[in-house]
Amino acid sequence: MSVAAEPCASGVEYLQWVPGKRHFRCEKLSATMSTGDCSARHTAAIAGDERVSACRFCPIGAVHAGKVDPLQAASASAKVKITGHPDQDTRCTRCGRSDLRLIHAGGDICVSCWNRQREWRIGRNSKGTAPKTFRALRSRRAGIVVDGEPCYREVAETQNDAEVLARCIRELPDGLAFHDEVPGVTAWNEQAQRFEYRDRNDPAKVMLELRHEGLIHYVPAKADSLRPGEVVAVPFMPTSRMSVHAAAAWLDMDEDGDGAAVTPEWRPQAIVCSACGVAQVQARTFAGRVECRCPSCGSSSTGTLPRLSSRVLSTAVAAHRPGDRADHNY
Ligand SMILES: [Zn+2]
Ligand SMILES: [Zn+2]
Repeated sequence: MSVAAEPCASGVEYLQWVPGKRHFRCEKLSATMSTGDCSARHTAAIAGDERVSACRFCPIGAVHAGKVDPLQAASASAKVKITGHPDQDTRCTRCGRSDLRLIHAGGDICVSCWNRQREWRIGRNSKGTAPKTFRALRSRRAGIVVDGEPCYREVAETQNDAEVLARCIRELPDGLAFHDEVPGVTAWNEQAQRFEYRDRNDPAKVMLELRHEGLIHYVPAKADSLRPGEVVAVPFMPTSRMSVHAAAAWLDMDEDGDGAAVTPEWRPQAIVCSACGVAQVQARTFAGRVECRCPSCGSSSTGTLPRLSSRVLSTAVAAHRPGDRADHNY
């Protein structure tokens, strides 16, 4: 492909240092790289290579890989305007319903969710039998940006992946943004018989989890220098970020109900809007299909915004197939 015919992402400044190659500044990775390297990273990320997972949903990478019409990507990469609050504080953070009274005990859950939780705790429902369908509560984590740096927040006693996002939005001050990065490269440790994170720059180093005020930071450490009590980080599912279009296609296929249920009423899902990065994508069923929207930037799967090409959509959806969503998040 000649240089002149190569796709250009909107808002990106290209540098011609080497004949036949174009370089640009990638803000996400804080690096200068060639469009060829960018394209290769994006393609590998779509194929599931965890070492480059940060590039999976990058609209600039998609342009360089020739996956989308540059005009469409221009819209996707544009800084979107936040026009609405990501939260509606009358909603249950667990099921997303907004028509029931909220009980403020360990989160904002509705009376229905609170009753189910209570029955589970005492091991007996209104019929006097043990609840069978209740999904046990456990802590989950979300990728959030604090002071411009990606870190992770652990939220105790959540039941689904939507709840951890809802709790972060409700419990943290305005200006919260989510990211979908993982803290390192996943590697198999034969001796310990487990998967663990390794440092991207030095795979001989493991990653340690440091907890401070509810936030989790990761620091690399030599595997043979661990002290008693130090915890080696093991893999977990990163926060899911998608466009409203990809989310609608994905939720249409999602039958395991890992997040909040999709009902005829709009409910926040276990997906962060990739256009703005600050809100949960909301979904509903309408005329037999799933529709998605973002309460903060106004993106809508039924709006007039350019749709992603079906090829990009199918790869984005394939990357989130239920089989890939093993429950690593502990
Ligand atoms: Zn509820
Ligand atoms: Zn949005």
